[in-house]
Amino acid sequence: MTFPRRPEVRQDPVSQRWTIIAPERGSRPGAVVRAIPPALVERDDCPFCAGRETMTPPEVYARRPPGSQPNRPDWRVRAIPNRFPAVRPDVVPGHDEIDGFTHVAGSGWHELILESPEHVVSLTDVSAEQAAEAGLAYRDRFRFVRHDGRSAVALLFKNVGAAAGASVEHTHAQLIALPLVPTFLAEELRSTAAYRTRQGSCLFCDLIERETAGGRLVDQTERFAAFVPYAARVPYEVWVVPLRHAAHFDSCDDDESLALGQFLRSVLMRIERVAHRPAYNLVWHTAPFDTASDGAYHWHIEMVPRTTTQAGFEWGTGFAINPLPPEEAADRLRSAWEESP
Ligand SMILES: [Zn+2]
Ligand SMILES: [Zn+2]
Ligand SMILES: [Zn+2]
Repeated sequence: MTFPRRPEVRQDPVSQRWTIIAPERGSRPGAVVRAIPPALVERDDCPFCAGRETMTPPEVYARRPPGSQPNRPDWRVRAIPNRFPAVRPDVVPGHDEIDGFTHVAGSGWHELILESPEHVVSLTDVSAEQAAEAGLAYRDRFRFVRHDGRSAVALLFKNVGAAAGASVEHTHAQLIALPLVPTFLAEELRSTAAYRTRQGSCLFCDLIERETAGGRLVDQTERFAAFVPYAARVPYEVWVVPLRHAAHFDSCDDDESLALGQFLRSVLMRIERVAHRPAYNLVWHTAPFDTASDGAYHWHIEMVPRTTTQAGFEWGTGFAINPLPPEEAADRLRSAWEESP
């Protein structure tokens, strides 16, 4: 298969962001991948390993065998409050304006979800069953903050590898529930609502129809599709989108949550195989709790491998420069198992 080699500036239909697809840039000096450590490494001092439960705040949730006691070592997935929280549940909600500056009280939740009792680094390093159970835990913690009622929205994300911002190596996700809607989400809510008004349909449902029939599809199951977005910001950026239209991730039933965990693991395996186990971020995009479940928004997950470095141009303009055409990235990810290791 051949792919265009000329620079092209593409606009993402959801975020409205622009990306310069510049194939020549890939061969310049310094285009390096920041790899993450191998699957299983020994760490004597890791607070997230089973057996060191006293080194973390008491758990708020765990998946354990029947009869097992909280904060004992036989957990499979465990959620704990972040010791260094960005927002806190004991802060009284509110907002104020002083001298023309607006501030909102930092009330909310900041938790860590540990997806493995063993010291592994990536979601690909756990078994398929373990990844499925992590999917269930993610969903359960979202439901918890929704029912708690004091937050407007929750964000779930994973930082894997130092280059992706991970300060602790042991695989974990972070859940942050916030009192206000982040700018990127406000923009996505706006663009999906505008699309629905204009076209009478959901932007993501229409994207799924196009992408599952086109050259950017990476993988598909009966519940989810994974594709490289048209204006991918970095090589091997992938979006995972549920085929069922839903605004909120926490609307997933048990089967969908289990299937999601497994699907994330298998798509990440393709990325790690083709991009040589890069550092990466996963970010859940899901509607604020108070929006209608059948609204114009469609939840999804963005996978962003740290395969390039953001420099002055990217920070200054908000434009990304991606040296790998999305169609070529998808082609490589589809045939990940045929490539030599
Ligand atoms: Zn550990
Ligand atoms: Zn939809
Ligand atoms: Zn998004």
